Amino acid sequence: MSQCIRILPETLTNKIAAGEVVERPASVIKELIENSLDAGATDVVVEITAGGRRRICIIDNGRGMSREDALLSLERHATSKIRTDCDLDKITTLGFRGEALPSIASVSRFTLATREAAFPEGVEIIVEGGRVRDVRACGMPPGTAISVEHIFFNLPARLKFLKSAETEAGHAADVIARMAVSRPDVAFSCVSDERELIKLQRSDLQHRLAQVVGRDSSRYMYSVRSVTDNVTISGFISGPSLVRSGTQGIYTYINGRFIRDKVVQHAVMQAYRGVIDRGRYPVLALFIELPPGEVDVNVHPTKHEVRFRRQTPVHDAIQSALEGVLRSSPWLTSQPPAQTAVVATGHALRERIAAAAQASLALPHRARNFTGSLQDAGPTEIVPHPVQEYAAIVSEPTPPFQQEPVQHVSSGFFSSLALIGQFHSEYILCQSDTDLVIIDQHAASERVAYQLLKEQSIAGGIESQCLLFSETVELSFSEVAAATRFSADLAAIGFELEPFGGTTLMVSAVPRLAADSEPLLLLRDILADLEHLGTTAAFSDVLENLLSRIACHAVIRGTHALERRQIRELLESMDRTDFAASCPHGRPVSHTITLAELQKIFKRT
Ligand code: ADP
Ligand code: MG
Repeated sequence: MSQCIRILPETLTNKIAAGEVVERPASVIKELIENSLDAGATDVVVEITAGGRRRICIIDNGRGMSREDALLSLERHATSKIRTDCDLDKITTLGFRGEALPSIASVSRFTLATREAAFPEGVEIIVEGGRVRDVRACGMPPGTAISVEHIFFNLPARLKFLKSAETEAGHAADVIARMAVSRPDVAFSCVSDERELIKLQRSDLQHRLAQVVGRDSSRYMYSVRSVTDNVTISGFISGPSLVRSGTQGIYTYINGRFIRDKVVQHAVMQAYRGVIDRGRYPVLALFIELPPGEVDVNVHPTKHEVRFRRQTPVHDAIQSALEGVLRSSPWLTSQPPAQTAVVATGHALRERIAAAAQASLALPHRARNFTGSLQDAGPTEIVPHPVQEYAAIVSEPTPPFQQEPVQHVSSGFFSSLALIGQFHSEYILCQSDTDLVIIDQHAASERVAYQLLKEQSIAGGIESQCLLFSETVELSFSEVAAATRFSADLAAIGFELEPFGGTTLMVSAVPRLAADSEPLLLLRDILADLEHLGTTAAFSDVLENLLSRIACHAVIRGTHALERRQIRELLESMDRTDFAASCPHGRPVSHTITLAELQKIFKRT
């Protein structure tokens, strides 16, 4: 086993994608775990302090290294995994570049301790900023333990870019989770500042996935397996009731390596077209196996990107494997809506605005049919038309009404408008003297809700509504980190959350305005926004965005036939709103066409 590491010849190193792999603690952890797995480890222990900024330690029970190899492994382009140019075309290991250990050792205080099982003792090498300081014999069990302290101590510019310890710990946990999904036969654990973050026993993919995405979530996942020519696809994919606002639940692997690839992602999203809403992403763990010569992993130093020799067959194989499951699975179970009980009370005016924004405008609970198209289930819906049938429908609010007198008994501009009708179940048409006023009902109700939320926020907190039965939500490690970090802020915007073991949170209350429109989906969206924030102080920077997200979530989306009473309530609440003439997204809320403009169009002038 000794001397199996060699320095690659320059002709070969020139062919290896150049670049830096050490970006943050999580990238160090990724490289070191890859090495452990390549060394045949069945047990990988990760310990981090201060999110890995102060210390990262990875201990494995792999085959270890001899003293000579251990010293060689710290040289650039020293690897035991490839020898010649031809090997580049048939890589079966996770590493092959021979650059991780020297790169990491050059930017940290680095200790490598390693022992081969056949030897009674191991060797410990201490390196500081790339210089070997000490080499000595050490007692240790067979395997390798690498400790990386004070990463970037000699590169202050890089250090500055690291995020808070919690954020870095979240990234680290996500990296471990990705690798853990690819190797259920290996036990993984991670302790962060003496708190156990991850503990995964050896098991099979199904159990591993349940541990990583959560048991509740995994109940909505379906097995996929297809073998075509050169491509084998296997894994588990979610049905339409398990979605995320981003790609964080998409675990894709090529020949066991976690990758983020546009071709693969495109194939996945094509398969889900019509099954899930736009802007939503599935949860899945998909393993794509190809002959090593069919895929080039030597594209980017982090090896997250790949290039397929023949892209189209791979794309089509993935798409049709997924479609095979998505087209046939009999899930059709729409998630029961959260049951709610109102406990909040508040200022009378706010109550009224809330009632208007909520009772008349909130989207009814939606049930998804098999093709994933949305059906409104609310009592005010007349007929759910497919989108293309909507063209040029001017519907009258039900019941049909006579032209109202122009003067409505009211003080505000919007309440004084005479209602003409609703166009396309999306726009409200009104008359004001000689003007035609067109109101975008979604933008208007969003603006009303946003205003209300802002007022509540300034007055001390968003009104929340207790769930009759608390719900649990399964999150990724970094989402949990965000939820923990911002728990007080989340409470201030209406979410009452408590840890419920592992990566599960118990949700006992949600913002009242959004209580009827899939509040857990809203929570996930908000956590996805917060994941990228470093410190609690930064929460105030995104508060407005979050309020507008809640407002947008709480109100009517798409087409929705309104009763006259509902339109009146909306117009009245618009008058109570400090109206900047746009919705929180900056879209206009109303548009006026004067009689003169109309006459010009009809060439009457
Ligand atoms: P690469 O993984 O691309 O070969 P690295 O710099 O990551 O390059 O590692 C250099 C070499 O050190 C590896 O090829 C391997 O032989 C050895 N090595 C690294 N980590 C371990 C480990 N945990 N157990 C056994 N050998 C290891
Ligand atoms: Mg490596």
